[in-house]
Amino acid sequence: CGIVGYIGNQKTQTVLIEGLRKLEYRGYDSAGIAVFTNEGLRVAKAQGRLANLEERLESAPLVGTAGIGHTRWATHGRPSDVNSHPHTDESQKFSVVHNGIVENYLELKEELISQGHHFVSETDTEVISHLIAREYDGDIVKAVQKAISYMRGAFALGVLTEYEPDRLVAVRQASPLIIGLGEGENFIGSDIPAILKYTRNVYILNDGEMALLTADAVELMTIEGNFISREMIRVDWDA
Ligand code: GLU
Repeated sequence: CGIVGYIGNQKTQTVLIEGLRKLEYRGYDSAGIAVFTNEGLRVAKAQGRLANLEERLESAPLVGTAGIGHTRWATHGRPSDVNSHPHTDESQKFSVVHNGIVENYLELKEELISQGHHFVSETDTEVISHLIAREYDGDIVKAVQKAISYMRGAFALGVLTEYEPDRLVAVRQASPLIIGLGEGENFIGSDIPAILKYTRNVYILNDGEMALLTADAVELMTIEGNFISREMIRVDWDA
């Protein structure tokens, strides 16, 4: 139930783990991260508290320039390694972290299975990665917009695709999400403390809004694709 994301040239894994530590109070069924490495999009996840994931990463760190992370409070599917986020599709080219519930996930799952998709987890979230993979046609923003047009429920999302390693997509629909603005790096988080160590400049997303982050820029738009502008907030308190 906590999301963090990073794009830039700092040590991605460190930023993600530090963010997740601030979010761990929101759920400790499992924790996981996905990072763009030299070998492509790589995922590490573990049931239980964040310390379990950290232990796993100690022997096999993920080094890269963008990533997403999650702490889970299970709603659909028991706490387990395989039900942990991030979730991918079978191509392993798309990676999704999700807070909230996809209410119509069962009918979407049945439809996707009938179209040849294979599922590995019991979560509602896994339908999102498969939907994005199905809709992908060279533009991750459009694919995410199409995918969420089929989804009902509450969700905050962080999405990466190996096809576009310089982009990170974030969505807010009835589940909180903020954007942190840095110099040559940008962040997403479920709440401000998750990223406050790195920046005090934030955008608060409203329901029905999304963001496209690169290391150098953030574009805000509605989930229908209309660009919007937002006043940046300067956070003057400490977490
Ligand atoms: N519904 C999703 C799951 O059970 C997300 C839960 C969460 O917000 O942590 O995996």
